[in-house]
Amino acid sequence: MTTETDRTDLTGMDRELLCRKLSDFGMKPFRGNQVFQWIHKRREFSFHNMTDLSMADRGLLAQRVRIQVPALSHVESASDGTEKYLFSLEDDHAVEGVLIPEEKRLTLCVSTQVGCAMGCTFCLTGKSGIVRNLKTFEIVGQVYLVQKLLSQDRPLTHLVLMGMGEPLANYENTLRAMRILLDPLGANFSKRKITLSTCGLIPGIQKLAREKTGINLAVSLNASDTSTRNRLMPINRKYPMEDLLRTLRSFPLPVRGRITFEYVLLRGLNDSLEDARRLVTLLSGIRCKINLIPYNPIPDCEFQPPAREQVENFQNILLSANYTAIIRESRGQEISAACGQLRDRSAS
Ligand code: SAH
Ligand code: SF4
Repeated sequence: MTTETDRTDLTGMDRELLCRKLSDFGMKPFRGNQVFQWIHKRREFSFHNMTDLSMADRGLLAQRVRIQVPALSHVESASDGTEKYLFSLEDDHAVEGVLIPEEKRLTLCVSTQVGCAMGCTFCLTGKSGIVRNLKTFEIVGQVYLVQKLLSQDRPLTHLVLMGMGEPLANYENTLRAMRILLDPLGANFSKRKITLSTCGLIPGIQKLAREKTGINLAVSLNASDTSTRNRLMPINRKYPMEDLLRTLRSFPLPVRGRITFEYVLLRGLNDSLEDARRLVTLLSGIRCKINLIPYNPIPDCEFQPPAREQVENFQNILLSANYTAIIRESRGQEISAACGQLRDRSAS
């Protein structure tokens, strides 16, 4: 007999996989499209209610496969409208998501791994190490659970893979999740509205470039020289920033597309005006914008946030060199909305 856990999950299959799976069961190929729409467009998670399938097909699916999403176990709201979610997974691990309302946007930040193996020294998720990759349905499911909570007149507009984990270290599952979310028969997200953020895994970036998904790329640079980056981001020893920037220079961008560079500012470490000037030179010739993120303090960590004036002076140097440079205000501080902080609190 098939048990609950050995039935294959359908939610994590892109349309091609799902159609193949259903035809393996002897169902007509177009049934795959129907089931895909039920799950990803109508968010119907019970085979029983898929009324355009025959009773026999519904019964067969209920017996052989299942539809899974994680559970939403915790919601916290901050006074600035930011909401923080904790999603609990089947094996009792948990990951986080953050909803960030802005004037014209409603952005959801989702996780791609439980923990992270990259060990960036300023990042709480990095300090916890890696537990496991998220499965495709666990990535897609975070989006669906939050969409279910939102009112119809304020829908989600943007999606960023900037929660816990390194998306390109969980390449296959993450990209499959993106294919599902972009599918016109499914959630039908626009590729321009999705951003994948990476610490700079060069082979993953090259693979992504070949894949031509058209989603936006953000790269966490966080330093203007290689020795500081080595100290902050151990991955720089494997994929040094010079090689990373070379790779990015040949990353295919759509007509008005730009790469986003994220730069976490740490007092006295990478926030000098000299750093800003070096950054101007380093990024020249790359169509990009720069997000300056004042460090959000994490427990047991030696770093300090930068002085406000320093952040503005840093920004001004970039602006006068004609870069778009935005200061990412720390949102939802009272609910510890930085990467990894809610999970850390609930674990203690
Ligand atoms: N692993 C990916 C995506 C998740 S991290 C990456 O590194 O890009 C998302 C962003 O949060 C990164 O730009 C990272 O530099 C930033 N970040 C991590 N810890 C932070 C902290 N304590 N304060 C401010 N930003 C932080
Ligand atoms: Fe991982 Fe990104 Fe945190 Fe670095 S900043 S440890 S890559 S989640």
